[in-house]
Amino acid sequence: MSQEGCLFCRIVRRQLPAEIVAEADGLIAVKDVNPQAPTHLLIIPTEHIASLADLTEAHTTLMGKALQLGNRLARQYHLTPDGYRVVINCGPQAGQSVWHVHVHLLGGRPLQWPPG
Ligand code: 5GP
Ligand code: ZN
Repeated sequence: MSQEGCLFCRIVRRQLPAEIVAEADGLIAVKDVNPQAPTHLLIIPTEHIASLADLTEAHTTLMGKALQLGNRLARQYHLTPDGYRVVINCGPQAGQSVWHVHVHLLGGRPLQWPPG
């Protein structure tokens, strides 16, 4: 998928509507269009990186900031102290459907383990 056609790049460029809940440090956070929990946010680097497997050393700070933003949003959405889950699906067998790396933040209900 090219950056031009990439769904999340289009959201980053405001070419597609999305409910953006945060923007900071090379990241945006949006509400998932098909939420799997009462709170289901996606934390998306503004840079196009196709998948977790494509991360390089240069992305270390960015992905650390993505987790920090997830923690901040978890507090903001009152997911603490009950708890929440962060997920990155990598590759077809893990169910990755959008080829632009993103962190799912899920909470607001008991979450089962192991995931399906
Ligand atoms: P993946 O399956 O790649 O881990 O996650 C992709 C996520 O993107 C899914 O949870 C899906 O519901 C969400 N999604 C797909 N299209 C859109 C969209 O146009 N807008 C938003 N906000 N989320 C989307
Ligand atoms: Zn992209």
